[in-house]
Amino acid sequence: MTCSVMWFRRDLRLGDNPALLEAAASAETVLPLFVFDPRLWDPAGSPRQAYLLASIKALRDQIGGLVVRWGDPAHEVERVVAEVEASSVHIAADYDPYGHPRDVEVKQRLEGREVPLARVGSPYAVAPGRVLNQQGNAYQVFTPFSKVWRDHGWRAPAETRHVSWDHSLESVDLPAVRVPGGMTVPVAGEEAALTKWRAFLDGGLATYDVDRNRPDLDGTSRMSVHLKWGEIHPRTMLADLAQSDAPRKAVDRYRTELAWREFYADVLARRPDSARDYYRPELAAMTYDDPGEQFEAWKDGRTGFPIVDAGMRQLRAEGWMHNRVRMIVASFLVKDLHIEWHHGARHFLDWLVDGDIASNNHGWQWVAGSGTDAAPYFRVFNPIDQGKKFDPQGVYIKRYVAELRDCPLDELHQPHDPIVDHAEERREALARYEAVRRA
Ligand SMILES: Cc1cc2nc3c(=O)[nH]c(=O)nc-3n(C[C@H](O)[C@H](O)[C@H](O)COP(=O)(O)OP(=O)(O)OC[C@H]3O[C@@H](n4cnc5c(N)ncnc54)[C@H](O)[C@@H]3O)c2cc1C
Repeated sequence: MTCSVMWFRRDLRLGDNPALLEAAASAETVLPLFVFDPRLWDPAGSPRQAYLLASIKALRDQIGGLVVRWGDPAHEVERVVAEVEASSVHIAADYDPYGHPRDVEVKQRLEGREVPLARVGSPYAVAPGRVLNQQGNAYQVFTPFSKVWRDHGWRAPAETRHVSWDHSLESVDLPAVRVPGGMTVPVAGEEAALTKWRAFLDGGLATYDVDRNRPDLDGTSRMSVHLKWGEIHPRTMLADLAQSDAPRKAVDRYRTELAWREFYADVLARRPDSARDYYRPELAAMTYDDPGEQFEAWKDGRTGFPIVDAGMRQLRAEGWMHNRVRMIVASFLVKDLHIEWHHGARHFLDWLVDGDIASNNHGWQWVAGSGTDAAPYFRVFNPIDQGKKFDPQGVYIKRYVAELRDCPLDELHQPHDPIVDHAEERREALARYEAVRRA
C-alpha cells in the first residue's frame, strides 16, 4: 500500500487544506505528522506553547491519531519517511525567516531518497511575493499593496475529501505545559475556530468598522490565534465575507485587516532581517535607554497610566491584547520610556498566544517609526487622550486594573503614581529624533 506524509506545521486543520488534498491524492494512505522543533518550541512563551499543544490535541482527536516526533525536522521527517516507506511529503509553504531555509534543507535531505517534498498553498490568501507593481517590484506601502492584493484575488476554499489515515507508527508523548497562574487561553482547534468565526459573521462583523478600535466593546473577531496556527485559512474567511449581508463598509474593513497580515508576511519574506533589525536603519542610530526598572513596571502593568496598565495586564490574563491597546503600550515603551522596540516585541512574543513574527515585529516597527509604511516617529500617542477616546466609560480599564474599580470617571484616565511625566518624555523623544534626523 502506498503512503504519503502530511507534515502539519501552521495548518492545523482538515478543511480547506490543499496540501492535505494533494497528499491524499498521491497515495492510498496518508500519515499525519507533527514535529516539535526545539528551536521553535524553546523560545516560545508558555501561553503559545500551551495553545499549540491544545491545538495539536484537537487535530489528533479529529484524525483519530497523529504521529508526533521531537527534534530537528530535517532528521525527523527523513526518519518517518524511511519508517513508513513514504512516496512523498506534503506541506503548506512557510515564508518565515526560520521556516523557509528549514524546508529547503528538508527538501534536500529527501531528494537523497528520491522522495519529493511538495509545497502546496501557504498560510495566506495570496502567497508572499505574488503582489507586485507594474515594474515587477514589491510594494513598500500598504494601500497600493492592498488594492493589488484584492485585484489579484484568491482561490475558492479547497473541498474536503475522505482521507485514509495511516496509524502504523508510534508517537512520542506530548510535553506538559503549565500556563502562567490566572491565565486562560482560548479554546483551540478547527472546530473552535469555525464556531468563533461563524458567531462573528452573524454578530460583531456588522459593526466592525465602527467598533474595532474600542477595547471596551470587544468589537473585534479574536481570530488572530486561529489564523496563527492555521486552524482556519483566510481563504475560507474571505469567501464567507464575500457572501455576507453585513454592511459593505464593515466587510471591507475586515478584509483590509486581513490584508495587513498578508502585507507584513510579504515584507518579512522579502526582508527576513527585519524580524530582528530595523527595517529603516536610520532610527537604529537614535539614543535609547537600557531596559531597567521602568521596563519591569511596563511589563507588570505598573506604569501608573491606566490604559497602558490595563493592556499589559490583559496580556498576562489572556495571552492577547486589543490592537488599539497594543499600539498604545508599544508607543509608551518606545517614546515615553525610550526603550528599543525589540525588547517590547520579545516580551509580546513571550506572552501572546497569537504571537507571530511578521505581524508582531512589523507591528512594533510600525509604532517605533522604523517599519515599512510606519507611523512617523514624531507622532507620539498620548495615553491619557487615547484612554478617554477609545475607552470613554473606563470599562476596559476597570476590567483589568482592579485598584481603579472605584475611581470616579473624571479621574480615571489620569495617571495614578506615574513612573514618568508624559509631556516631558514626549519632548525628550522628539529631541532624540531631531538629533538623529540632523545627523
Ligand atoms: C505592537 C503590535 C504587535 C502585534 N502583534 C501581533 C501578533 O503577534 N500576531 C498577530 O496576529 N497580530 C499582531 N498584531 C496585529 C493586531 O493587533 C492583531 O492581529 C489583532 O489585535 C488580533 O485581534 P483580532 O483577531 O480580534 O483582530 P481583528 O480586528 O478581528 O482583525 C482580523 C484579523 O486581521 C489581522 N489583523 C488585524 N490587524 C492587524 C495588524 N495591525 N497587523 C497584522 N494583521 C492584522 C489579524 O489576522 C486579525 O485576526 C500586532 C499589532 C501591534 C500594534
